[in-house]
Amino acid sequence: MSKVHNFSAGPAILPQEVIDNCAKALLNFEGTNLSLIEVSHRGKEFVAVMEQARSLVKKIMNLDDAYEIIYLQGGASSQFLMVAMNLLEVKAAYTNTGTWSTKAIKEATSLGNVEVLGSSESKNFNFIPKDYSISSDYDYFHCTSNNTIFGTQMQSFPSSDVPVVCDMSSDIFSRELDFTKFDLIYAGAQKNMGPAGTTLVVIKKSLLGKVTRKIPTMLDYTTHISKDSMFNTPSVFAVYGCYETLKWIDKQGLAEIEQKNTAKADLLYGEIDSNEMFEGTAAKEDRSKMNATFILKDESRNDDFLRACNDANINGIKGHRSVGGFRASMYNALEIDSVQVLVDVMRNFK
Ligand SMILES: *Cc1c(COP(=O)(O)O)cnc(C)c1O
Repeated sequence: MSKVHNFSAGPAILPQEVIDNCAKALLNFEGTNLSLIEVSHRGKEFVAVMEQARSLVKKIMNLDDAYEIIYLQGGASSQFLMVAMNLLEVKAAYTNTGTWSTKAIKEATSLGNVEVLGSSESKNFNFIPKDYSISSDYDYFHCTSNNTIFGTQMQSFPSSDVPVVCDMSSDIFSRELDFTKFDLIYAGAQKNMGPAGTTLVVIKKSLLGKVTRKIPTMLDYTTHISKDSMFNTPSVFAVYGCYETLKWIDKQGLAEIEQKNTAKADLLYGEIDSNEMFEGTAAKEDRSKMNATFILKDESRNDDFLRACNDANINGIKGHRSVGGFRASMYNALEIDSVQVLVDVMRNFK
């Protein structure tokens, strides 16, 4: 079987060794002769997986015990609500940089005052707003580090006196960052850290317990923190997949991963900019290294280009319906050889 070059936006490519180890655990989990998905999550084998999956995040992010790591269900989309439920007392500041930010704002608005400090909506979210400052009277500031659909990424984060909450669903563990600058980070696993079905939340403990509303048990971060993500049955398979991916990330370190991601992005954007048939859709200075969005100047050739990609075993290149054109998602596990195959198709197409 020839190799498929998987540019899918999510669920997305995972390292082959992660898939192999998941397959093994499905057949025989830790020598139990039972499948990972048919044993108690409270058995010592899975408890160890959960503990590792939590501690590896702290290690990779270089965080101390001021932070808690939990794995939840309900996707990043549930975090739009949970963040506000747990942190919004009077008012919160948001930036609106795409579809996901818009949804986060909508959920928070149902619980308190939300002020949008910067928005790129009027330009179909093709840039990252930067000309705003964050006053000290907000409960928190919320941003989306990488806009999966529109192909923009925050290259830096604003300084702020208030807690910073970040949706890192589509670029978590893709680069070196000072993670202590953030107070709450969340990410649906299925873009860059594992299979769909679990959501990572990294949270500074001191942030909690400050709102006066009564929080339903399942939506209260303290519930899940106090039970080490085992208040109810966790998504055992998804958490296992994250654990395997985290080991793979830890072996390389974020510096090396970032270098590879930069090389991949440089290769593809270099072609987009030099090939007169194509055009990037995001502002250059805000381009995402994870999701590159581009169009054919002559859109009547779209189907021809998709066919050429298909013939080269390239998967998942069609753009999101709200942007059109094409999107190449280049998550950590995608090798530069796959990007080279896409670049070759673009050159031949010209
Ligand atoms: C995919 C995505 C989401 C939604 O994640 P779900 O787990 O499907 O709820 C939220 N934010 C960003 C930035 C995303 O890329």
